[in-house]
Amino acid sequence: MKNSIEGKNILIIGSGIGGLSAGILLSLLNFRVTVVEKNALPGGLMRSYRRAGIDCPVGVHYVGALGKDEPLGKMFKFLGVPVDELFSHMGQGGIIDRYIFDDFTFDLPISIDVYEENLRKSFPQEAAAIDIIIKNLREIAGRMMDTSFLLNQGDPFQNIDYYQPLGEFLDKLDVSAGLRAVLSVPCQLVGVPPAECPLVIHHMVLAGYLFSAWRLKENGAKMTEVFVRRFQKLGGELILNDGVEKILLKSGKVAGVRLKSNLELPVDAAIADIHPKTLLGLLEQDSLRASYRQRILDLTETDGVIAVQVSVDAATHPEMAHNIYRLITNEKGTIEDGIFYQIRRGNNHVNLLSIITRSLYSEWSKWENTVSGQRGKEYEEKKFAIARKLLQKAERIFGALKNAKIIDIFTPLTIRDYVNCPEGSCYGVMRSARQLLKVASVNNIPISGLFLAGQNALAPGVLGSMLGSFNVVKQIIGTERFTRTIKLDP
Ligand SMILES: Cc1cc2nc3c(=O)[nH]c(=O)nc-3n(C[C@H](O)[C@H](O)[C@H](O)COP(=O)(O)OP(=O)(O)OC[C@H]3O[C@@H](n4cnc5c(N)ncnc54)[C@H](O)[C@@H]3O)c2cc1C
Repeated sequence: MKNSIEGKNILIIGSGIGGLSAGILLSLLNFRVTVVEKNALPGGLMRSYRRAGIDCPVGVHYVGALGKDEPLGKMFKFLGVPVDELFSHMGQGGIIDRYIFDDFTFDLPISIDVYEENLRKSFPQEAAAIDIIIKNLREIAGRMMDTSFLLNQGDPFQNIDYYQPLGEFLDKLDVSAGLRAVLSVPCQLVGVPPAECPLVIHHMVLAGYLFSAWRLKENGAKMTEVFVRRFQKLGGELILNDGVEKILLKSGKVAGVRLKSNLELPVDAAIADIHPKTLLGLLEQDSLRASYRQRILDLTETDGVIAVQVSVDAATHPEMAHNIYRLITNEKGTIEDGIFYQIRRGNNHVNLLSIITRSLYSEWSKWENTVSGQRGKEYEEKKFAIARKLLQKAERIFGALKNAKIIDIFTPLTIRDYVNCPEGSCYGVMRSARQLLKVASVNNIPISGLFLAGQNALAPGVLGSMLGSFNVVKQIIGTERFTRTIKLDP
């Protein structure tokens, strides 16, 4: 078995959903697992934070495919994490997302059947293209229901056609600008532009939400608590507020880690639920071939975002059952700007409007060498100026926002410092058609006993991060044992 490990002591760097899922799985398989987190609180991007008495989300706004027969639902069940305690169904009003373009609106419904109907109604002249798109989507969705396919990344990942970028595929189908725009929205959820987003990734993301869409009943802090509780109940140990500073190797193999506190822990293997570029910083320069190191350093990141959390009068602005995307496209239907809105229940009198839009790291480079909370007045002013403009744009959608108060703003720099993610990239390295092979090779680190988990292993999002964690366990215990023991289907 390639990169096999000898002992039972596994250390996981990072307590994001990827780290905790891998920790639970390995504990279930009787490994002794320690998760080490640099922050004072666990959860990484999964965790919410409180401002003005309201829980504000960071990286879990909605999730697809959590139904009990669906891929993510099956993975949660295997981990022993109760979906019903944490999540409730979206789409009761028939809509998950409303896409608002300049000249038309499109509703993303639950189910591929209704999605197909909505596409045909909105684009009656494009029946032939829609036939092909829906046929492909159904094929990928069908494969996703077969978890052995998902866990083994089998066919149709072998089908080269599925790796072509969505944009190229739509060019061949000669679709209208409107249809292109609607089909491009899921690319926003993985941070890859349509011109570079592999068809298979686009279809998996879209199909996931069409299976079923879910929101947290409470918040990301509770979600984290449930994952941590499950992990600890299985004997897992969690060390907080003490990040890993060095991975120690002996004869080319992982032998231990040194924490910020100088504590050294001997381990048989280490799993990095962190960005690969951050991982490089934990290794001695000569532990990897220069060309491999450079390949990682050259990877393009997904873009960062700015997020504005706004408290609004709850009576005037009740919780909305669906999300809204306001999208600006060019004449070809390419999305040039997109803003995500979600209104959730806050506390007694106020609700939370979350507004998220792309924000390039380069826009914040002036404060690159500063840390959260100490970036100075000019940074604060810039943040607030952008937030106020976003609020004005929001009022064009929701009408005057009663008692609107900005309670927090986070930028790519905030995310960078919070989870050690270079450039504050939302979804880690970009899984574009152009660099897909390079990204895939990163998941096979040429150091014995060192593995990647979470969004940097296979794919981003809750589904992608968890798949990455199942995959790392497969790497550790070998395909044969994995197939024998990890059975997601009854
Ligand atoms: C703004 C935003 C919105 C999103 N919305 C959604 C959504 O609605 N639905 C969805 O499915 N996905 C969403 N995502 C993506 C999703 O949140 C992520 O894909 C997922 O949470 C990543 O989990 P992870 O475990 O890979 O990494 P992380 O959550 O980043 O966890 C990594 C952990 O490692 C820790 N760490 C880093 N370095 C060290 C070190 N040296 N030692 C110890 N610990 C360390 C970090 O502090 C962090 O806790 C969103 C992401 C963002 C940024």
